[in-house]
Amino acid sequence: MFHALIVRKDEETGKTAAAVEEISEDQLPDGDVTVAVDYSTVNYKDGLCIGPGGGLVRHYPHVPGIDFAGTVESSDDDRYKPGDKVVLTGWRVGEVHWGGYAKKARVKADWLVPLPEGLDTRQAMAVGTAGLTAMLAVMALEDQGIKDGPILVTGAAGGVGSVATAILAKLGHDVAAVTGRPEQADYLKGLGASEIVARDELTEVTRKPLEAERWGGAVDAVAGAMLGRVLKQMQYGSSVAAIGLAGGAAIEGALITPFILRGVNLLGIDSVMQPYENRVRAWQRIASDLPMDKLEAMVQPATLADLPRLGADILKGQVKGRVVVDVN
Ligand code: NDP
Repeated sequence: MFHALIVRKDEETGKTAAAVEEISEDQLPDGDVTVAVDYSTVNYKDGLCIGPGGGLVRHYPHVPGIDFAGTVESSDDDRYKPGDKVVLTGWRVGEVHWGGYAKKARVKADWLVPLPEGLDTRQAMAVGTAGLTAMLAVMALEDQGIKDGPILVTGAAGGVGSVATAILAKLGHDVAAVTGRPEQADYLKGLGASEIVARDELTEVTRKPLEAERWGGAVDAVAGAMLGRVLKQMQYGSSVAAIGLAGGAAIEGALITPFILRGVNLLGIDSVMQPYENRVRAWQRIASDLPMDKLEAMVQPATLADLPRLGADILKGQVKGRVVVDVN
């Protein structure tokens, strides 16, 4: 028997409740690799899956946790053997499939990535889906060509924003970090941000076709009114990597002008179904380009019992940096 965070749904009221329970290995879903999980983490989607589900969870009882890192315990697949260190993000694990908020997980070998040299399982979960997404966003900007001038990161004190800020600063870019939490300015400067932009400066919807060219690239976790404004402030030929919707699913006030008059590119970033080769490339870049002391500064440790509270906090935008959950 081992501990897991189980979400149960009351069929009459439709309400869900999450609590730590004991489960046995034979309750785990089908899969070809069983992993002894060391650590998991908390992403925005985890907040949804620990709570009311947000339409992501199909069946209850459910074990959330969209990310985990650990050691292979048994494997029916030639690519993995007992003792291998692995990391898993995405593939709708923790949503449709049972996830990482348990001492053991059983999954498809196709979903795993070998832990890259230079990262341990705790660091991998300090990175998690949020950090992988930040790296994918940086890679997409690089592939398209980053212009001179500051790179804007929105939702900067959140998980994706924190990692994006640290990576871009380490790569030598000036980073302008947008936050609605001015008390996090020192934290963001510690990660390498050279400028703090108040969220309010970018949330008013305007009908202007364009604004002064400011940003040589952008990683946007917010969308909503902010992405509409940011697009109008991009330098000629620069790109915005759109990763999230913390401020709303629409792009408010957006016009076609930045695209057709300034050749601005809007690059969509998905971490969930990302092909294996690109995941391996991104994890290797994380191991080489994310300063581990900066990563450590983002971490707040947690246990399975903390998850109901942390799940609610992340939905309110109140989690700073990255949570690392010790599931044992
Ligand atoms: P976090 O909650 O850690 O960070 C989001 C940040 O956005 C907050 O910390 C806050 O930053 C800012 N924010 C929150 N609400 C608002 C608002 N109403 N208006 C403006 N800014 C706001 O989440 P993550 O970093 O884990 O994820 C960010 C987004 O990316 C989410 O929408 C998530 O679903 C998405 N995502 C997408 C992935 C993909 O594959 N494309 C993968 C992972 C996440 P601050 O306090 O600094 O202002």
